[in-house]
Amino acid sequence: MSREPLMRMRIRVEQDVFTVRQLGREVAREVGFESQDQTRLATALSEVGRLLVTAGRDTDVAFTTTADGVPTLLVEMVHPVPGDGARLRPQLTQVRRLVDTLEVGDGETGTVVRMSRRLPPSSPALTPDRMDEIRDRLAGHVPGTPFDELTVQNQQLIAALDEVRAQRDDLARLNAELEETNRGVMALYHQLSDELEETNRGVVALYAELDEKSVQLRAASEAKSRFLANVSHELRAPVTAIIGLGRLLTDESSDELTEEQSRQVELIRASASDLLSLVNDLLDLAKAEAGRIEPNWSDVDLKAVFGQLRGTLRPLTTRPEVDFVVEEPAVPRLRSDEVLLAQILRNLLTNAIKFTAEGSVRLSVARNGGDVEFTVADTGTGIPPELHERIFEEFYQVPGSQALSGKGTGLGLPYARRLVGILGGAMRVESTPGQGSTFVVSLPVSP
Ligand code: ADP
Repeated sequence: MSREPLMRMRIRVEQDVFTVRQLGREVAREVGFESQDQTRLATALSEVGRLLVTAGRDTDVAFTTTADGVPTLLVEMVHPVPGDGARLRPQLTQVRRLVDTLEVGDGETGTVVRMSRRLPPSSPALTPDRMDEIRDRLAGHVPGTPFDELTVQNQQLIAALDEVRAQRDDLARLNAELEETNRGVMALYHQLSDELEETNRGVVALYAELDEKSVQLRAASEAKSRFLANVSHELRAPVTAIIGLGRLLTDESSDELTEEQSRQVELIRASASDLLSLVNDLLDLAKAEAGRIEPNWSDVDLKAVFGQLRGTLRPLTTRPEVDFVVEEPAVPRLRSDEVLLAQILRNLLTNAIKFTAEGSVRLSVARNGGDVEFTVADTGTGIPPELHERIFEEFYQVPGSQALSGKGTGLGLPYARRLVGILGGAMRVESTPGQGSTFVVSLPVSP
């Protein structure tokens, strides 16, 4: 919706085109357009005016503003030649770029050109009072001569040229800055890639050193295993001899010994037995570590293995307060090494029996996904959580934990874990001091 026009005028002769141009600029200034927009509107008006005046008839020009919505200046230029639109439209393409909208209407009564341009948001509100003031001022406006208008146009042209030059200078400066930034970015990039290369070289060197260290470590570990194997092998024969000689000395067919002598010989035999089990354990571990144990894969009948364990270990459970249970295996067969598997389980069960004063020691087996899990659970002394890894170290024994039978060497668990590894599985422990321990050996169904 538009309101009562701010101003009207009529273009009759060519000179009026200058007037409409001046008036357009004045109206634009009054409603709040900035200098550049004033020039745009004035130029659009004079261009349309110039085209219309050549039709040889009077053109009525009316300036209004919208009454609602976004405040907009509307200009309507009407002349009474109908059907002039076809001639005008192609000539108005340039003018279209100076305003927001431009439409040409051909009516029975004549031809209308309507243009609009939105007021800048900063322009003051067009209240009815302000509209009246603007109307008054425009009515008092005295149009200048074409010469005046030419002067104004020239000034505007100079200003526009100045602005173009300033923009070109700005552009050149921006370009220079961009180039500078580019150079900076490139320098940074080079620096970064140099640093990266340097770091890479460092990492490569570090890896080489690590490789070298692990070769040394492997060599040291192999040397240790060799040493242990040799020493224990060499020790086995004399220790066995000591045990045998001890047995001979106390034999009934030998000369009678005094009570003190018998006690001393018994001591020697007991110590030699301890030494022999240590030597045997060491030899086993050294063999396992040296990779000298090759599993003998076969279809293991777990019922048979469990039965054998039940039979051989029951004699160790001398306490009536402890229930020794080897369950019926829930998994009947498994592809594994029977001897190694029995050794692992015997080891865990012996430990469980050693550290359980009352309650139960229980062996069971079950499927768990692609694994077969053997569980040795006891209700014994338990192991503090922070030592769950340490008990797998050679010679480590939980401080203060007292085995109920036998002394132990601290080599059983490291050996058992080695064997589990050789069978392609893993061993873990869950244990709470005072409540008991559960050792779980999981072996793959097919190794
Ligand atoms: P050891 O010959 O002493 O049994 P192991 O390597 O078999 O050596 O075990 C190391 C230590 O781990 C044991 O000395 C004991 O302190 C602890 N341990 C192992 N099994 C159990 C268990 N079932 N209950 C409580 N403590 C255990």
